[in-house]
Amino acid sequence: MTTIAFIGLGNMGGPMAANLVKAGHMVKGFDLSEAALETAAANGIECKSAVETAVQDAEVIVTMLPSGKHLLAVYNQVVPLISTGALLIDSSTVDVASAREAHDLAAQAGLKSLDAPVSGGVGGAAAGTLTFMAGGSDEAFASALPYLEIMGGKQVHCGDNGAGQAAKICNNMILGISMIGVGEAFNLAEKLGLSHQALFDVASTSSGQCWSINSYCPVPGPVPTSPANNDYKPGFATALMLKDLKLAQEAAASVGANTPLGAQATQLYGLFDAAGQGGVDFSGIINMLKGDE
Ligand code: NAD
Repeated sequence: MTTIAFIGLGNMGGPMAANLVKAGHMVKGFDLSEAALETAAANGIECKSAVETAVQDAEVIVTMLPSGKHLLAVYNQVVPLISTGALLIDSSTVDVASAREAHDLAAQAGLKSLDAPVSGGVGGAAAGTLTFMAGGSDEAFASALPYLEIMGGKQVHCGDNGAGQAAKICNNMILGISMIGVGEAFNLAEKLGLSHQALFDVASTSSGQCWSINSYCPVPGPVPTSPANNDYKPGFATALMLKDLKLAQEAAASVGANTPLGAQATQLYGLFDAAGQGGVDFSGIINMLKGDE
């Protein structure tokens, strides 16, 4: 049994921490939200009223926070209090620069650290089937693996410090762009008198195939589990897609990468979000592209 501190017990962190408890670990949790603490306590997490108490004696510290700003604030507060040799795993989605700064803070204090953002959403967090994309040393990855295996179904060591966050934003930039492309194609097909099913049957088995069509088709019908069949309830909310696209744009600017479609996708999801659709699944952008929203 390992003593684990879990900081950030929200939609993702709550169920991830609960899975660590189910696997037999002692999990001490902290969150600024009373509601999150109550749910976590009901799931067997020993909730603390201060972050300092949560990290006391912890061998592993997992963070699942909204952004890089929150992550660095927490690390600055707790890193000096953590026992030497402990392992820090940050699974939040944050900008690459903050992730690297967090690694530096850990290294200065003699702690192992891993950036390990996830994909798979709230459903994957609850089911323990998340995909982890990790950045950090081989030693940190090896130490984290037993815990990542409890919370997820797949773990990829992407490279050194920040590589997990880099993989996450590149993947989500592909997803954001491809969903717009798929939405435009279905809208065009409709105007040309082609049925949704006919385009799906062709494109899902031809060179247009991609996850946005095959697994998450943005029109009702062809893929019964896609949010299009459930009034575009997320799934993956537009506001979160926009957050990740902005992180990708920030990263692209910092290294001089040319990402014209990434920039255009950020602008389009920004418009969708500004139209009050931030809580709608990101695949719902098909309706804005059509001109219905
Ligand atoms: P959330 O808002 O539900 O949870 C974040 C939690 O952090 C909140 O409960 C908040 O009170 C807490 N918090 C903020 N500052 C804190 C502090 N200083 N100390 C302690 N707790 C603090 O968000 P979420 O959906 O759980 O997402 C968490 C992270 O995971 C984000 O970075 C998000 O981008 C990423 N992510 C989310 C999803 C998803 O589908 N929700 C999927 C993949 C990745």
